[in-house]
Parts: sequence; structure tokens; C-alpha cells
Amino acid sequence: MNELQFNDASYEQFLNEEKLMGSKCTRCGTLSVPPRPICVKCYGSEMEWVEMKGKGTLAAFTCITVAPPFMIAQGFDRKHPYCSGVVELEEGARVDARIEGVDASKPEDIKMGMPLKVKFLHWGEGENQETFLAFQPA
Ligand SMILES: [Zn+2]
Repeated sequence: MNELQFNDASYEQFLNEEKLMGSKCTRCGTLSVPPRPICVKCYGSEMEWVEMKGKGTLAAFTCITVAPPFMIAQGFDRKHPYCSGVVELEEGARVDARIEGVDASKPEDIKMGMPLKVKFLHWGEGENQETFLAFQPA
């Protein structure tokens, strides 16, 4: 692994390559996804990259009908809500992600604790490519 900084830019670069990466504190083992340069637990600054397997469970979610502009550009609006959630990864870290493959217009059907697997949503092309982290039912 090269000397990538433990920040959002590196995280997004990995997402483009379909890798879900976090930082692991070499002192206490705390995982952070996205990566952080300083450990949230012990404030240590010695980090190493760890690739997540991309499996987890739904820890929290919200269905959003009033979408931000970049989501409207992807076809979401009041009639086509989307679901944003927090996924508890198998490795123990929690990560914010879009939840795909569920009916965001029926939040009552979305189950807490449901098993999920990672899905990388690519948007745009070339240098403008962005990848959004999503999870779908496993
Ligand atoms: Zn630590």
C-alpha cells in the first residue's frame, strides 16, 4: 500500500476502484470507515489501511424525499425517494451509505438488522467519475 493519506479523498479514490477501505489504529485496533488520520478512541495517529469485506447489517436508516441536487440529478425526488442508512460492517465499524434494493416509499418494510452487501455506484466518467457507497440486501 502506498502512502495515501487517511482522508476522504483517499477513501473516494478507493471507492472508484470498488474497494471499501478503512483505517485501523495500530495502537488500539479501532476501525474507522471512512478512514481518519487520528483514532477516535485513543487519539493515536499510527494508522494502517484495511479493506472491508463489504458485508454488514442495517443499523439505522432514513428515507429521503427531499433530495439534494446531486441526487435529483440521479433521478430521485419526492415521488422517488431514496434510502440512506448506517451499516454496521462485519468488521465492527459503522459506515454511512445509500441503501439500494429496498422500496424507500415503504420504510415500514425495511428491516433493521437485515443483512446487506456492498454495491459501488459509479456516476460520471473519466476524471469526473464519482463513486457512491451503497449497500443492498445480501
Ligand atoms: Zn486507537
